[in-house]
Amino acid sequence: MAKSYDLILVGAGMVGALSAVLLAKASLRIALVDKHTGLYTLSTPPAYDARVSAISSQSKALLEEAGVWQNIPKNRVASYDNMVVWDGVGEGMVDFNAHNSDMPELGHLVENAVLNDQLLARLKDDASVDLYLDDQLDTYELNETGVTASLASGHQLNAQAIIAADGALSKLRQDNDFDTVEWDYGHTAIVATIEIAQSHQNTAWQSFGEEGILAFLPMPSVDGREYVSIVWSVPPSDAEALMALSDEAFCQRLHYAISRKFDVLSVTRERQAIPLRQRHAKQYVKAGLALIGDAAHTIHPLAGQGANLGFGDVKALVAVLSNAQRRGEALGSLRVLRRYQRARMLDNIAMAAGMETFKRLFASHHPAVVGIRNMGMKQFNRSRMLKNKVVARAAGLSSFS
Ligand SMILES: Cc1cc2nc3c(=O)[nH]c(=O)nc-3n(C[C@H](O)[C@H](O)[C@H](O)COP(=O)(O)OP(=O)(O)OC[C@H]3O[C@@H](n4cnc5c(N)ncnc54)[C@H](O)[C@@H]3O)c2cc1C
Repeated sequence: MAKSYDLILVGAGMVGALSAVLLAKASLRIALVDKHTGLYTLSTPPAYDARVSAISSQSKALLEEAGVWQNIPKNRVASYDNMVVWDGVGEGMVDFNAHNSDMPELGHLVENAVLNDQLLARLKDDASVDLYLDDQLDTYELNETGVTASLASGHQLNAQAIIAADGALSKLRQDNDFDTVEWDYGHTAIVATIEIAQSHQNTAWQSFGEEGILAFLPMPSVDGREYVSIVWSVPPSDAEALMALSDEAFCQRLHYAISRKFDVLSVTRERQAIPLRQRHAKQYVKAGLALIGDAAHTIHPLAGQGANLGFGDVKALVAVLSNAQRRGEALGSLRVLRRYQRARMLDNIAMAAGMETFKRLFASHHPAVVGIRNMGMKQFNRSRMLKNKVVARAAGLSSFS
């Protein structure tokens, strides 16, 4: 016999799992389906997982509301109070400081696996959420009045709507012919954790240079030794060459790419290379179906905003669906789901456009362009008002819409 829910949520990554917690808190009954087993093997520090996210104030507040942030072990989260961005080709530099923007910190860094693990632990205690892990949709039918679905495991489910949080290659997005605007960034990101000889000073460091876009993001220190998570975005052929280097040679290249600000001692765990692609669905909703997180949009990681945008989707979706439920509206109706799309699309597009502009601005190494760019950076760095606006936007405390 089919089991009935308000929503079937597909994808228990950071975005889907957080949605499930907050929708259940708003008294909705949720079936959460993921092809992953839900078991995350956490490494021991300092061998931090290579996939790490900078979490904004707004995202942290949502994770607190979900009762998840409080449970993250203290030795798996690092805050950063400063951010320094510089032009590796010229002399332009911009620095941001939490204190100057009246904020306790600019953000936090947490391994994705740690967040996923804590979100799933929270869901296992939630009577309003049934987990269907190591499972996936087999067949389903959806329209404005409801959804019926069969899982690969044979379970039959009914609900008012499906929420697709199944990531960048979303099968639900593709099955349902959502048009997307997408292009290759011409970059592959190399991610890893490294040990450095100097203090990271609770600062996120980012260089835009001939060696690519390189971020050194502070991680918790262990026994007085300092670690950073790196995101190094370079053309695919350069990434291939960098991945082929020995750890020792890779560390040497990093030392130069970060403008020799840090001596790089070692790589604590294997490096990963991730091709980067910009993707944006032209619509986020159809009758009975809504896309959230990477299923709806992916952007360049240069400002660490992808998951934060996804969490912004979660906040809007929870508000729209819980209001609709209170009013007795059908959750899968286009009228209801379009409210979510209206709340999010402009903001997400504006962030994607911002990332593209940034990437292009720093792509040229022509002396004239470098000169103008550096002049602009110096002017910008003198304006506390402009810097506060950027900090508020990155923290999720202001929006474009
Ligand atoms: C190098 C790099 C650095 C980044 N740094 C940051 C950062 O600092 N800050 C930030 O905010 N963002 C960052 N991002 C972006 C961030 O990682 C993503 O936006 C975020 O992980 C997306 O989460 P999600 O839950 O939407 O998707 P995913 O994490 O991809 O989760 C999708 C889930 O769906 C499941 N799934 C997929 N297909 C199916 C199916 N058919 N059936 C059932 N389940 C399915 C998967 O198993 C998975 O659990 C970075 C991205 C990259 C590439």
